[in-house]
Amino acid sequence: MIVAPPHPREEARLHALADAQLLDTPPEAMFDDVVRLASYICEVPIALISLVDRDRQWFKARVGIDADESSRDVAFCAHAILDDSGMMQVEDARDDPRFADNPFVTGEPWVRFYAGVPLTIGDDDLPIGTLCAIDRKPRRLTPEQTEAMHALARQVVRNLEIGKAARRTVALNDELQRAATAQQASEARLRALVVANPDGMLRVARDGTVLDRKVARDRAIMPDPQHMLGRHVADCLPPRLARLFVQQLERTLASGAVHTLEIQELVDGQPCDKELRFVASGPDEALALIRDVTERKLGERAKDAFIATVSHELRTPVTSIRGSLSLLEHGMVGPLPEEALEMVRISRTNTERLLLVINDILDLEKLSAGQLDLSLRPVEPARVMKTAAESIRGMAAQAGVEVVVGDCAGAPVLADEARVIQVLNNLLSNAIKFSPRGARVDLSAEPGACGRLRLCVTDRGPGIAPEHHARVFERFHQVDASDSRERGGTGLGLAIVKSIVEEHGGVVGLDSAPGRGSKFWFELPCAGAAVKP
Ligand code: ADP
Repeated sequence: MIVAPPHPREEARLHALADAQLLDTPPEAMFDDVVRLASYICEVPIALISLVDRDRQWFKARVGIDADESSRDVAFCAHAILDDSGMMQVEDARDDPRFADNPFVTGEPWVRFYAGVPLTIGDDDLPIGTLCAIDRKPRRLTPEQTEAMHALARQVVRNLEIGKAARRTVALNDELQRAATAQQASEARLRALVVANPDGMLRVARDGTVLDRKVARDRAIMPDPQHMLGRHVADCLPPRLARLFVQQLERTLASGAVHTLEIQELVDGQPCDKELRFVASGPDEALALIRDVTERKLGERAKDAFIATVSHELRTPVTSIRGSLSLLEHGMVGPLPEEALEMVRISRTNTERLLLVINDILDLEKLSAGQLDLSLRPVEPARVMKTAAESIRGMAAQAGVEVVVGDCAGAPVLADEARVIQVLNNLLSNAIKFSPRGARVDLSAEPGACGRLRLCVTDRGPGIAPEHHARVFERFHQVDASDSRERGGTGLGLAIVKSIVEEHGGVVGLDSAPGRGSKFWFELPCAGAAVKP
């Protein structure tokens, strides 16, 4: 007896067999019918669908024998799956050295004749077993019987493939079902969060259409929530708020960052402060979370008023101290010993710093109280940029930074010239402060949005991470607290910039990323331009 060698692609074949999910499964009528037909047509007592496993052959369907399986070493089918001709026929096993002393030949079931058609599946046509017909007397199949065996084997393979596709569909359905359940759970969690949150909420599409809303208890901003769905925010919010809303919506979707908007509304005749936090909730929609911040604002205003009063009270004596120190330093009251002179100089520079802070605080206070008088007239961008660069030249030289005034062929803006220079000075002094020695700071102008001109200050400093972009314009916000120690500064400069620019009806912004420098910009309405909302 010769034991059949493994198939040349044995592992892949075994994998295909496992993938068919047939081994050790209960009988199935379709396969039973096939072996019954094979037995009738070929006129043989035994017919099998035999699957050749690693060490055994297992019968998926059988007629004429009782056993479910046998060892692979004695299996005729183990030879048949190696046959490339499409069918292995053995007319008399006693004359074939592979089978002459096979126990199935020398004993039950006394095999003489064997005809097996390999069952090949998959793109690689790997034989996982056979459909075989067995007789106890020597013989051959007629051409019709041979043809019928091939046809029956094709039926078996087709049925296996249909079963596999059906299993794949069921698995896919299960997966879709699981994904749908997970999504429902996630949506339910989200809804629970929205409901539990006392804030109001508006979900708005990129084009400004209201997609969903949740009304806060006081109904501020949404007095008529029933009629908001599907309408443009301009049709449901007060005009000024709608304009700011659309602006923030655009910025949020463009940057992907969170943007906030603070407004004051009258609710039942009382002023109420609201904070709207915009966050993108999809590629073409954003959520605006509306929170009542009236109490916080009251506290902040009281604190600001207190700081302003203190600052105001401090300004006169500190100015007088600076004057006196200056007189001492310049020898107006007689020469001072060198050591004393040095101390006077240190005191005078620190007093000047203190005075700058006091002035910043008072400026901000005036701005937030709307008491800053702006004298608006057409201002040449090129001129203000040159003046600002000139006034900061000393600081730039000391820091080893070059300030370059670039292209600024823009239309005049309608602004208070002194205030624009103050804004540019604040941005320039930051840019210089944060630039490495030898670097360049650029001043430029370009067309802005809605008929405005954009003035830009670009540095090659450390840059600012996106999560700080909105907050750097808040009072006292410093990206790194050590900045104030190492570079000086109070965290008020950018808050002043923002207030002055907004007082002009303009907007401020920042393009920056860590390691890529910062471009701070502000836009002012062009003189004579019809400023769109
Ligand atoms: P400060 O007086 O601290 O400079 P600002 O309001 O002008 O206050 O700036 C706030 C913070 O923003 C700074 O402390 C710094 O962390 C960051 N910042 C401002 N300008 C720049 C810049 N050009 N490069 C990097 N960081 C900057």
